[in-house]
Amino acid sequence: MDTILSNAVQSIQIGMEDSKSPDPRRVLSAIRNVQAGILLLCKEKLRLLSPLGSDEVLVRERIAPHLNAAGELTFRGTGPKTVDQHQIKERFKTLGVKVNWGPLDKLTGYRNNLEHYAFSGARSELTEALGQAAVIIQELVEDVLALDPASLLGADCWEALLESEALYELALTKCRYTIAAIRWISPAMGQAVEDIECSVCGSQLIEQADVTNTDQRRATFRCIVCHMECSAEEIVPFALSKHLFADAYLAMTDGGEWPLGDCPSCGVAGAIPLGEGERICALCGDGFPEASCAVCHAALSVDEISENGSLCAYHLHQALKDD
Ligand SMILES: [Zn+2]
Ligand SMILES: [Zn+2]
Ligand SMILES: [Zn+2]
Repeated sequence: MDTILSNAVQSIQIGMEDSKSPDPRRVLSAIRNVQAGILLLCKEKLRLLSPLGSDEVLVRERIAPHLNAAGELTFRGTGPKTVDQHQIKERFKTLGVKVNWGPLDKLTGYRNNLEHYAFSGARSELTEALGQAAVIIQELVEDVLALDPASLLGADCWEALLESEALYELALTKCRYTIAAIRWISPAMGQAVEDIECSVCGSQLIEQADVTNTDQRRATFRCIVCHMECSAEEIVPFALSKHLFADAYLAMTDGGEWPLGDCPSCGVAGAIPLGEGERICALCGDGFPEASCAVCHAALSVDEISENGSLCAYHLHQALKDD
């Protein structure tokens, strides 16, 4: 086994041993070790893709051009540093190696949170982090490296990872169950339930305090990882923006309409889904049906509809000037 791959295995195994310790200080080291192991699995793929004699060019942070004896241009790795997480993603992308990075991003988020805020360091947090780790480790080992996770990591370690994933799935199912009865004001929010996330720690393990409550306005949500409590006002705009992210991305790059409007009635930013004729505030329920300026027929923004009635900002200004 190559050094990079054996380091990856050791790192993940040590992390899983840390995770079994009752000492809460080892929660962070468990997450750190498992994450380091995941990055090493990625580096192993980059090593395998590097040409022989290139000093593992794709694994190195810096790449230098060389002319060989025949005068041909080649590239070699240089310097002591290896690629970081950002560079790994970039290189995988240009090399056409597809990986769903979502679980790794989550894992990084937990690590940063633990390092900066040092909250609970609780079991639930570890379970979620390792559950995410199991998903990406499986993809990297089976699909990217074409190896068998149980033989590579050892049966004990791999079973412990799968167990975390199962525990996490179970916790997520329980959380979703507590939210299932809520009647959301906006149909778009009804579709975005799976995008609900804690605004503090990024966990998806959000439960409703009162399982029997069906009223969005009276709902209290609680993150079972960091214990943050909040109302629909914090949850809804965030879930909607995540749900509508593809549209939002197009709006930013192609100059289309931003898919969420700020609500002039309740004052919450990003509470009105604008696409597909809905245009109802997901928090207060006020509607802002599409309208156009009575003079120039330009489409009116939500603010113009609420403040000017049937005139665009320019023609309202003109009308006031004429008076
Ligand atoms: Zn949280
Ligand atoms: Zn509103
Ligand atoms: Zn106008």
